[in-house]
Amino acid sequence: MSQLLGKQAIVIGAGLGGLAASAALAPHFERVIVLERDGMPESAVPRPGVPQGKHLHVLLGGGQRALEALFPGLEAELRQAGASCYRAGLDLWLDRPGFDPFPQRDAGWNCYSLSRPLIEALVRARAIRGNVELRAGCRVERILLSEDGARVTGVEHGARGSAAQTLSAQLVVDASGRAAPALAALHAAGLALPRETRIGVELGYATQLFQVPAEPPGEWKVALCYPQIPASSRAGLLMPIEGGRWMVTLGGRLAEKPPGDAAGFLEFVRSLRTQTIARALLRAQPLGEVTRFGFSESIWRHFEQLERLPAGLLPLGDAICTFNPIYGQGMSVAALEAQLLARVLGDAARQAAISGRADALAALARPYLAALPALLEGPWQLAAIPDFAYPDTRGERPAQLGQALQLLAGLVKLSARDAGVHQLALEVQHLLRPYSALSDPELQRRALAA
Ligand SMILES: Cc1cc2nc3c(=O)[nH]c(=O)nc-3n(C[C@H](O)[C@H](O)[C@H](O)COP(=O)(O)OP(=O)(O)OC[C@H]3O[C@@H](n4cnc5c(N)ncnc54)[C@H](O)[C@@H]3O)c2cc1C
Repeated sequence: MSQLLGKQAIVIGAGLGGLAASAALAPHFERVIVLERDGMPESAVPRPGVPQGKHLHVLLGGGQRALEALFPGLEAELRQAGASCYRAGLDLWLDRPGFDPFPQRDAGWNCYSLSRPLIEALVRARAIRGNVELRAGCRVERILLSEDGARVTGVEHGARGSAAQTLSAQLVVDASGRAAPALAALHAAGLALPRETRIGVELGYATQLFQVPAEPPGEWKVALCYPQIPASSRAGLLMPIEGGRWMVTLGGRLAEKPPGDAAGFLEFVRSLRTQTIARALLRAQPLGEVTRFGFSESIWRHFEQLERLPAGLLPLGDAICTFNPIYGQGMSVAALEAQLLARVLGDAARQAAISGRADALAALARPYLAALPALLEGPWQLAAIPDFAYPDTRGERPAQLGQALQLLAGLVKLSARDAGVHQLALEVQHLLRPYSALSDPELQRRALAA
């Protein structure tokens, strides 16, 4: 028999990770409070705490399924709210060196394309109900620990125009994006901080909205142009979003960062390896200004390797792992972590009926943290291997990088001519299958031969 694990849980941050975490916590606590430093907009517009919200946000199949499991019926709501639906593998025009375009094949699932603020607003509307409360304009200043630093007791937060307040909690999830509150709590308690793996990519993003023209191309809904790695890093992605608009995001590293003015933006589009996006934009009306974003490095904070973490403190989402955004993984990984948290909490609640709530809560972190490497290894490698194809990428190069790059190139070639391999590669890329599915010896032999 399962039972409640505690009176109150607190989530720091109402981004995708924090909202997904609140759904995992809700069945196990009397009350869940999500504290967000930003004021919450009424409508789906970008907000200061999530500046990346002005740029394209791809929702991968695995993340979409995880969100649907946490918020049943969400997919239908995305559609109703105006998200554009496209078939994975089929409605995507992928210009990839050697294959312009890459074969279009139906992978068998729908993807939804919409702006990040709209995804967040829809998830927020589902998450914040019942025993889950959102307190906007509340910045968490400190996670409070017991005197011996062994367990979490609550948080201290500031609210505009009022003195600092404390809230008690038996569980605090740090989904603040950078883990600043969790790291500060470890430091204050004299505990070791997690080791970090960093990959410096020095990536620049520029995004512009366009009105979809009267006669858009018929053979695709989404267009993606890959660079010729490592000679260039210039990439472009065009996706439809709500409101009959196209969002076009351009990316480039170091000296190839895209510019922030309208003319420079279009010039960069024309400088991409192929003209698919440039042709599509010929009759498309730009809307608003170009927005830029700088992303310097991917970071994996290895909380799972810590010998001691105060009981009741859990990180989630970007607070654990911030991915190079070009691979479109961050929201999906955060949703998968929340699904993992839901499973671990379910087990702990059953355990609580036998050993008591305090023991079950104290034992929660181990299975959660222990499962993280298996969840993160795949998306991390999918990004790290191509990132390190550029000689100027900073960080420790993966063992046998040369062979990994050859394998990746071989898999691309094999996927182009073999529908079964293409299907497998898409499922791994969309986080629907583990990365280990690519380690089949026969598949690797064929890929290296290719
Ligand atoms: C340019 C760019 C493009 C991206 N594109 C994609 C993509 O295509 N697909 C994809 O899946 N992912 C993408 N990502 C990654 C994605 O945005 C993140 O992985 C995702 O938002 C993770 O969510 P999170 O909740 O962990 O963190 P965030 O979304 O960053 O949310 C953290 C929240 O915590 C709040 N907060 C911070 N500190 C405090 C505090 N002390 N007290 C209270 N609140 C606090 C912040 O205001 C914010 O609301 C992209 C990222 C970037 C930078």
